[in-house]
Amino acid sequence: MRLSRFFLPILKENPKEAEIVSHRLMLRAGMIRQEAAGIYAWLPLGFRVLKKIERIVREEQDRAGALELLMPTLQLADLWRESGRYDAYGPEMLRILDRHKRELLYGPTNEEMITEIFRSYVKSYKNLPLNLYHIQWKFRDEQRPRFGVMRGREFLMKDAYSFDLDEAGARRSYNKMFVAYLRTFARMGLKAIPMRAETGPIGGDLSHEFIVLAETGESGVFCDKDVLDLPIPPDDVDYDGDLTSIIKQWTSVYAATEDVHDAARFESEVPVDKRVNTRGIEVGQIFYFGTKYSETMKALVAGPDGVDVPIHGGSYGVGVSRLVGAIIEACHDDAGIKWPEAVAPFRAAILNLKQGDAAVDGACELLYRDLMAKGVDVLYDDTDQRAGAKFAAADLIGIPWQILVGPKGLADGKVEVKRRSDGSRENTSPADVVAKLAG
Ligand code: ATP
Ligand code: MG
Repeated sequence: MRLSRFFLPILKENPKEAEIVSHRLMLRAGMIRQEAAGIYAWLPLGFRVLKKIERIVREEQDRAGALELLMPTLQLADLWRESGRYDAYGPEMLRILDRHKRELLYGPTNEEMITEIFRSYVKSYKNLPLNLYHIQWKFRDEQRPRFGVMRGREFLMKDAYSFDLDEAGARRSYNKMFVAYLRTFARMGLKAIPMRAETGPIGGDLSHEFIVLAETGESGVFCDKDVLDLPIPPDDVDYDGDLTSIIKQWTSVYAATEDVHDAARFESEVPVDKRVNTRGIEVGQIFYFGTKYSETMKALVAGPDGVDVPIHGGSYGVGVSRLVGAIIEACHDDAGIKWPEAVAPFRAAILNLKQGDAAVDGACELLYRDLMAKGVDVLYDDTDQRAGAKFAAADLIGIPWQILVGPKGLADGKVEVKRRSDGSRENTSPADVVAKLAG
C-alpha cells in the first residue's frame, strides 16, 4: 500500500475526550472515528487490525473443533421471553419496533437464538458434542460507554455455544475453549490470565474471565505471580485427547477476580512476595451454565436409553473489538503503538527519506515491489513529508519493521532497518531485508 493513496487521517493534537492511552492512540493514528457515544466507524488502519485479530480468533476456534455460522444482529423479543431474559436484561438492551409493531432487539448475546436453532434440528445425543460460534456485532446500551472501543455500546464479539448430553461432556467442551483461549491471546502477543469469575446474568456455576493485567483495566484482580509464566499449549495440542492436565496446571495457581476473591485462601496459598493485586482488562469469558436455557426453552435430546433430557450448555465470549484497545494498552511507548507482528496493520513500512531523489525513489520502488511479490504486508511512505514527520508517523501507527531509505546509506548499498518493539537498528542491503521479512 502506498501511503499517498491510503486513508490515514493522523491527528496532530491529543484528543481531549480520550482518558486512556489506547483510546488516545487509536484516535491519533486514524484507526477509529466516534459516530455516537460508544459507537465507532473503523477506518482502514483500525479495520486491518480488527480483521487480523478476528482471524486469529477464528483459526483457534476452528482448531478446537467449533463450527462457524452467522446469526443476525436483530432478534425477536418473543425468543427472549421464552428464557425470561427479555425483562430481566433491563435498560442495557436496545429494543426496537418494526413497521408492523413487532418487538425486536439488537442482540447483546445469543444464548436464546442458538438454543432455538439447536432445538429445531438436533434430537439425539448421537449428534453431540456440538459447538457453534459466530463473530458478530453486539449492542449493549452501557450506562457509561468509555475508553473508546474498550467499553463501547456496539462492539464485535466472538461467541461460541457448546451442547453436550451431560455435565462431564460439557466440562470437556469447556476445557477445549479454555485451551483455545490460552492459545488465541498468546498468538496476539498478550498475556491473558484465566481467573475464576462470577457468572453474572448468563447464569451457571463455572466461569473464567481471561484478563490482561493493566492499570487502566476495569476489573480488580488477585493472583499468584507464578501464573504469569505458565506454558501456552502448543499448536498441535490434541483437542480430542485429555486436556485436564493443562486445565489443572492453570487452575491450581491462585487467580481470581475481585467478585469471587477469597482473601483467606489467597493469604494461605500465596507467599507474600508472589501476591499480585492489580487491575486488568477482561478480553474473554467462558461459562458452563448447565441446563439453564435448555430447560426453559426445551432443548432436549434423546439419550442412549431413548429418554429425552435437557442438554448441558456453555457459552464462550471474546471481545474482538475490545482486544484492539487491550493490545495497545499492553504494547505502546511515548511515541505510539508497538504492534505485535501477528496483529499489526502492516508488517513493514518503507520510509523514503528523500522523495524526489532519483536513486532513493528507485530503491524504494524496487523494495516495495519485491516485498509485495513475497507477500509481505508493506506500507510505502511515498509522501512528500519531511523525514522527521515520517519517523513520527511510522512510530505512532506502530509498524513492527521500518525500512529507512536515504541517499547516504544507499551510496554504500545499504538501508537501515528499525525494529519498533525494541528500537534496535541495523544497516543491511535491500536484498537482505527482503529475504529477512519474507522468511
Ligand atoms: P464487562 O464486565 O466488561 O461489562 P461482560 O462480562 O458483561 O463484560 P461478556 O458477556 O462476558 O461481557 O462478553 C464477552 C466479552 O465481550 C467480554 O469478555 C469483553 O471482552 C467483551 N465485551 C463485553 N462488553 C463489552 C463492551 N461494552 N465493549 C467492548 N467489549 C465488550
Ligand atoms: Mg464477562
